[in-house]
Amino acid sequence: MFQGELQQPVNRLKGIGPGHHKSLSAMGILTIGQLLGHYPVRYEDHQTPRTIIEAAGLLPVNTEAVVVGRESFPWKGKMTLKIIVEDGSARGSLLCYGRNFLADKLQTDSRIYLYGQFQHRFGEWQCAAFEFETYTEQPKKYGTLLPVYPLGGTLNHNVIRKAVSQALREYTAGLNEELPEEIRESYHLSGRKEALRDIHKPANPEKAEKARSYFIYEELFHLQTAVGKNALKLRETTGHRPLELKRELEQKLRGNLPFELTPDQKTVMDEIVRDMESGRPMNRLIQGDVGSGKTLIAFLSALNIIESGKQAALMAPTELLARQHAENAIRFMENQGIRIAFLSGAVQSEGRRILLRELKEGHIDFLIGTHALFTKDVEFKELGLAIIDEQHRFGVSQRQALASKGIRPDLLYMTATPIPRTLAMTAFGDLDVSTIKTMPAGRKAIETHLTREGNEGKVYDFVRRELDQGRQAYFVYPLIEQSEKLDLKDAQSMYEKLKHSFPRNKLGLIHSRIPEDEKDQTMEAFTKGELDILVATSVVEVGVDVPNATIMVIEHGERFGLSALHQLRGRVGRGDQQSYAFLIYSTKLTDEGKQRLKIIMESTDGFKIAEEDLKLRGPGEIAGIRQSGYMKLKIADLVRDTEILVQARNDVKKLLSRDPHLLAPENKVLKDLWQSAPPFSENLIPG
Ligand code: ADP
Ligand code: MG
Repeated sequence: MFQGELQQPVNRLKGIGPGHHKSLSAMGILTIGQLLGHYPVRYEDHQTPRTIIEAAGLLPVNTEAVVVGRESFPWKGKMTLKIIVEDGSARGSLLCYGRNFLADKLQTDSRIYLYGQFQHRFGEWQCAAFEFETYTEQPKKYGTLLPVYPLGGTLNHNVIRKAVSQALREYTAGLNEELPEEIRESYHLSGRKEALRDIHKPANPEKAEKARSYFIYEELFHLQTAVGKNALKLRETTGHRPLELKRELEQKLRGNLPFELTPDQKTVMDEIVRDMESGRPMNRLIQGDVGSGKTLIAFLSALNIIESGKQAALMAPTELLARQHAENAIRFMENQGIRIAFLSGAVQSEGRRILLRELKEGHIDFLIGTHALFTKDVEFKELGLAIIDEQHRFGVSQRQALASKGIRPDLLYMTATPIPRTLAMTAFGDLDVSTIKTMPAGRKAIETHLTREGNEGKVYDFVRRELDQGRQAYFVYPLIEQSEKLDLKDAQSMYEKLKHSFPRNKLGLIHSRIPEDEKDQTMEAFTKGELDILVATSVVEVGVDVPNATIMVIEHGERFGLSALHQLRGRVGRGDQQSYAFLIYSTKLTDEGKQRLKIIMESTDGFKIAEEDLKLRGPGEIAGIRQSGYMKLKIADLVRDTEILVQARNDVKKLLSRDPHLLAPENKVLKDLWQSAPPFSENLIPG
């Protein structure tokens, strides 16, 4: 029997009444098997003896003591008990707030084991939160490591510890190993039952540590198995055939450009073409900083697949960006006879019906749009390439929905938010990664300035002078409209105010609550240079490309995340003019806000910024996979445990290449495990 098969409800254990049962359910712990998988986050050390003096007010005291007296002191109008103890190193006072009843148990001369954090105050060592047990030859807590569990609702440690102990005693006798013998031997891993006991009730810190490693490895091994099995399945079920690409349309477009591709763009193009010709479905991520020219790569790739007689699709996270892509595609490709269409939620009724029919009959070569692209009724004649721009903004299932249209198409993901290697190896099912490091020639570094709120007048003066030179500017705010709760500037009111500050200029306003067609018109006017200033929220964060805009003013810069700041700044510096970013910050700064501004001031390198972001926030959010539920690792941590992850990945690769269907007798464990108690859902991983 596998632990996942211990399906008995957790309230079968003693002490789990309706209240605790509800609290456990809320934490996702419904079965006894799940309770056993609720690992401690750390241990309370009741093992290492530590006297009052040794602890020195810094560590918890864990000592044998004798009660030597009692006093009382007034507290909240009541006399409160104070027990004086002596542990051979010093005297200490136990302050019994609300616990006067302890007088009975803590009589003078009683010997106790004492645990608690002391502080030196009012000339004595005091402790208010203490635990004790009466001295015996075989103490219950003293001398042990007590597991500390994540708690919720009504739960407390005593309840969980008791329930886990009972579960270990009564339910684990028949538990199976969950890793192949060979693997366990090569890492000298003990049996699983032993590890389970040691993680919950370790005899010493070494055993606890060993047990933790066991489960970290096990979890990552199973994760990699899910990834690997999924990758294999995709390779098998695809009807993917090798292509021979002529690259004539690509050459033609490249010849028409007023610039050369950068060396990295060229390399990436070759990598993509190689993937497309390989006969295996492409699964490639293009990482490149904001402005590095990823869109062009997308277009050139699409041209190649279209030339081979198939269709291409490009999905962008916002309507604004999708429309901009469609307009650019038309500009670049339509004279080559490529039929381009745009689809978003705003395309409705008759227009949509016609578009879908044309798409299905193959009269559309290149479909560009938002997440509307993956709705069920969107059918292609033969989708050869799906491109997902700013991929981190989509959920795993959305990307997968597009990938599963027809025969598995080639997949190309684009991101300006570099994904840590560990995530590329896991969440994305082993992606191939291409990186564009060089920026197009002639780009001048953006000057970034920090300005304190109150001094923005100087920034406005500067902007005015630039506008007079014919440049354009963005003003970005954290809120759409005024909020009663937050004392922040908002786009709507600032739009009105800025009209007065810039009487000679034309202004536009853009945010997510403005209707699509109005947004479009505003964006178009700004792109054409008919508007001088675009007042916006972070909707302009992704993709918007107006080379003549050279100024980005971000008010309340401290309110934006690092990647948003970097993306926003990346809206300027796209032409050959010197560009500027002004971060106006409020003096009410949190430490993290301060940290973010410092990082953004010090670096314009998106990769470096992403690394710092990872440190500040952790991996899940960065890759936009937190919402998928897939990354809910119980004990492993992809940032901390990279080394183990790489080991597990290599082990799984070796195993699966020898025995892809887990048919060998030595892998029966795994086959059975995935059949009766799968540790991860295979389907959540995009292919
Ligand atoms: P990204 O999507 O990577 O942020 P874009 O594809 O929007 O960047 O490109 C930014 C701008 O740079 C666009 O105006 C694009 O036409 C231009 N561009 C792309 N490649 C080059 C190049 N090799 N040389 C000069 N300009 C380029
Ligand atoms: Mg882009």
